[in-house]
Amino acid sequence: MGKVYLVGAGPGDPELLTVKAARLLAHAGVVFHDSLVSREVLGLVTRDAEVIDVGKRCGQKLLTQEEINSLLVSAAANYDVVIRLKGGDPLIFGRAGEEIEALRHAGVDFEIVPGITAALGAAAAAGISLTDRRAASQIVISTFSRGTEGASMDWGAITSTTTLALYMPGPDYAEVAHRLKEGGLPDDLPCVIVSNATGAEQQIRWTNIAQLASEQKLPAPALMIVGRVASQKVQEISKAFWRGEASDRHTPRSAVVS
Ligand code: SAH
Repeated sequence: MGKVYLVGAGPGDPELLTVKAARLLAHAGVVFHDSLVSREVLGLVTRDAEVIDVGKRCGQKLLTQEEINSLLVSAAANYDVVIRLKGGDPLIFGRAGEEIEALRHAGVDFEIVPGITAALGAAAAAGISLTDRRAASQIVISTFSRGTEGASMDWGAITSTTTLALYMPGPDYAEVAHRLKEGGLPDDLPCVIVSNATGAEQQIRWTNIAQLASEQKLPAPALMIVGRVASQKVQEISKAFWRGEASDRHTPRSAVVS
């Protein structure tokens, strides 16, 4: 019986892989990967391995999640090293929960190898501190895109000192801007869009919620970082974006709620 490794491939730059991930790719029997995984990273897989794309293409799933789960379980019977390779970190919007459950249920040994998630790659690319102590007290990793079954964004968690990392924003920036405003975020709050973070085609667009709707679309994969830290102008960091902000900023939310 082999072992299944849920491995993070990082955001794009193959040098951002962990040493462990690179070592495992060089010893894999079979690799099941997402479409997000870059060609350069796949280039590190040993030639002896079977490499199978189980990702999504143009919104069409090649395989269902249940099919992937059973592939992982049966591969463990045939290979010593089975790798489930996912873009970024496997535990962030990667459906790892379902795979872990299936592996546990089948009694298959598994290990998780973390990767650098896209939000961290994007922040590094843009040169912004997600938790800049002058402006942010927390990071919320979220998305509007959870299909029908997933939980939707908890707006109660978004405060004036929140840095929001918005995964899978989709191509409709006007809709994103609308939802952010509906959620109570101020018009002039900074927002940075990072496309292909850390990859060869990386693009960065500095904007704000009001201007977002008219921004030219950047190619997928892209994510948005929204919040006062998402600005190149340091002097803006201490600007009061929210009305009545002074009291809000110094009262921890938990204190307000309980
Ligand atoms: N497990 C991945 C996320 C998968 S969801 C991770 O930890 O990063 C897919 C979304 O991730 C994309 O829609 C996009 O919002 C984001 N993403 C992944 N790679 C990216 C990259 N190189 N640049 C910008 N966004 C990226």
